[in-house]
Amino acid sequence: MKNITLLGATGSIGKSTLSVVDQHRDKFNIFALSANTSWEKMAQLCHRYQPKFAVMMDENAASQLQSALDNDTIVLSGEQALCDIAAHEQTDYVMAAIVGAVGMSSALAAAKAGKRIMLANKESLVLAGDIFMDTVKNSGAELIPVDSEHSAIFQCLQSGRSGLSKIQLTASGGPFLHTPLSELQSITPDEACAHPNWSMGRKISVDSATMMNKGLEVIEAYYLFNLKPEQIDVVMHPQSIVHSSVYYKDGSTLSQLGNPDMRSVISYAMAYPRRISAGVAPLDLASNPPLEFYSPDLDKFACLKLAFDALKQGGNAMGTINAANEVAVDAFLKQTINFLDIALVIEQTLEQTKHAVLNSLDAIIANDQTARELATQIVAKYA
Ligand code: NAD
Ligand code: MG
Repeated sequence: MKNITLLGATGSIGKSTLSVVDQHRDKFNIFALSANTSWEKMAQLCHRYQPKFAVMMDENAASQLQSALDNDTIVLSGEQALCDIAAHEQTDYVMAAIVGAVGMSSALAAAKAGKRIMLANKESLVLAGDIFMDTVKNSGAELIPVDSEHSAIFQCLQSGRSGLSKIQLTASGGPFLHTPLSELQSITPDEACAHPNWSMGRKISVDSATMMNKGLEVIEAYYLFNLKPEQIDVVMHPQSIVHSSVYYKDGSTLSQLGNPDMRSVISYAMAYPRRISAGVAPLDLASNPPLEFYSPDLDKFACLKLAFDALKQGGNAMGTINAANEVAVDAFLKQTINFLDIALVIEQTLEQTKHAVLNSLDAIIANDQTARELATQIVAKYA
């Protein structure tokens, strides 16, 4: 029996993780759950899974949850409590599925404590890739990606990386793949969040629509698989069936395929190196529509280009674009700025930030804060 700490239990990845746990209650036990403010949803989860700990980021939500519960679950609040349940000696696996930079400290705490980290929070690697990977190495933690593309690469690399020439991340292109650039200015948040293949939280859905999600994934792959930027390629694949590929020097390409359902990825991370059922329908290639692939349009999807630029610049550039993106997406979801302004806010934040090498977590956090303040000022110009 493996004890699981599920960070971000009320989100999309959280829900899919619980669905896999439901199918294997003999193998996995929910040890701790966390959420931001939604205490009512958390109360239902506590009732169902009887975790030892429930952490609400928000203090008021924690008090509400405490009064709603009549079991032995210990209710805590705040970022330190998130780190504590991630590093707790009784937990084995930590699903890091909080959205945004705020998920970094708890994911790092799991890494420091030598846990199996099932990493959905890609922002952790974008902000602190070097420190994160060093921590994993030094503590003996296991890092298993919970991002469909990176899980695909991880699975393909099980046969080794001898002769690896490059990896290729597939990108669906989101809801606006075929929408002309001239029509993107008037897109609403609900239109941006209507992803054709995947059902996800609102922030990552907007990131998919701008393709910043793919940009963040390029950086995630750079750290996870220790590659050079020029070894990472992106190809458009609207059907989201081929999840990503590894190219070898001998002309071979290995790809991982499946229906777009995160439960495949999550169950793989939970059962690795074995495989267990996940409730996902098997792929039926013969009845699928034709699989299409083509090169991304970097003029239309400026965010993807900005992420490649930031990776090449290195240093604080990656943390800066991540922070600016979070501020810009939040402003777009609140209808303060337009869809196309997101890329402009990120571009200008990057331009106006002095290049620096960040050697400590404190410096990374300070850069994140400064970039957020600058991006907020730039957002105000577009509001
Ligand atoms: P979501 O918005 O559905 O859920 C986010 C979770 O984080 C919720 O449980 C919420 O309570 C918690 N949270 C939000 N703000 C918080 C805060 N300030 N403090 C503490 N907790 C907070 O998001 P999601 O789609 O599940 O995505 C989660 C992460 O997984 C993201 O980093 C995303 O990039 C990554 N990811 C998601 C998918 C997917 O299919 N949804 C796929 C690949 C990677
Ligand atoms: Mg992905």
